[in-house]
Amino acid sequence: MLRDGDVADLRWCSEVIGLPGYGRSSVVGQADRLGSIDSASMSQVFDLPVMRSSAWIFNCYIVDGGSQLAVVDPGLPIVARRALDLIEQTGEHSVDDIASVACTHAHPDHVAGVSTFTDRASCDVHLPLRCKSYLDGERPRTFPLVESTVRFLPMWGAQRFSGRAFAEFVRYGKTIGYGGPLDIALDFEPSGFVGHGDGLPGADGWEAIHAPGHTDDSTSFYHADSETLISGDAVVTLDGRAWFNPEYVDADSSSSTEELLRSKPVRYLLPGHGEPIHAPDVWRRASSFTEPPSGTGVLARCSRRFGTWS
Ligand SMILES: [Zn+2]
Repeated sequence: MLRDGDVADLRWCSEVIGLPGYGRSSVVGQADRLGSIDSASMSQVFDLPVMRSSAWIFNCYIVDGGSQLAVVDPGLPIVARRALDLIEQTGEHSVDDIASVACTHAHPDHVAGVSTFTDRASCDVHLPLRCKSYLDGERPRTFPLVESTVRFLPMWGAQRFSGRAFAEFVRYGKTIGYGGPLDIALDFEPSGFVGHGDGLPGADGWEAIHAPGHTDDSTSFYHADSETLISGDAVVTLDGRAWFNPEYVDADSSSSTEELLRSKPVRYLLPGHGEPIHAPDVWRRASSFTEPPSGTGVLARCSRRFGTWS
């Protein structure tokens, strides 16, 4: 049976096929041959041992570490529930194999789904190291809401809309994580914190990269062998291109992070928001955090017209 996320994945696949210069994922080929849609396999990200669960623009990645699974960004509860269903549907793993859930930063849309995982699985939960200071009383910096939101506008149309995800985004935005009126509020106890250079518990070969700018705790995960970056919100994707996030608390940090990430070869970019992309060099067509979005859509045009761009 097709659900919201499956249709969004289909759209993603067709967009990937239509993009000149972009690799055709083996998963798409498989669906073509079979002439049918397997909702679990269609959520595999290209030919990587990674699955994606999404609702609207909120992405969660499940990394298959062999005997164990590592989840990056549980997202909203609707995204987390879909991720748990996907794991069971594969038949290769069960939720008991989830070793850890890691969040790339503690914004509500990245941490609100944590307790959905911990309710079903006995897994560890890891937050970026900077969150330790937040829990000790440091007030997290947040970006200027209107200015940033106007720049970010086209992202709200980057993936298929889900009313349920929207409702959860509004609801949990006031109660979990940080941002807006909240210092930081969690409905779970973190088991540990991930700092620059640390691994991803449950999956070998991944390295945490502290990638501040969007927020001070922003963290990405890089897999050097496959040149894969799970970017969190340091980089988003729009119309098949990487875009260093134009929503930021600190332009200097964003600039340093952009330089650092561009120094690493990336063929697979798995963003917190937007469709995953695959290209020989993802950065070749990437836009800087200071560059307005391209595109003819009304949201992109509003962003260019009303956003502040340097
Ligand atoms: Zn986010």
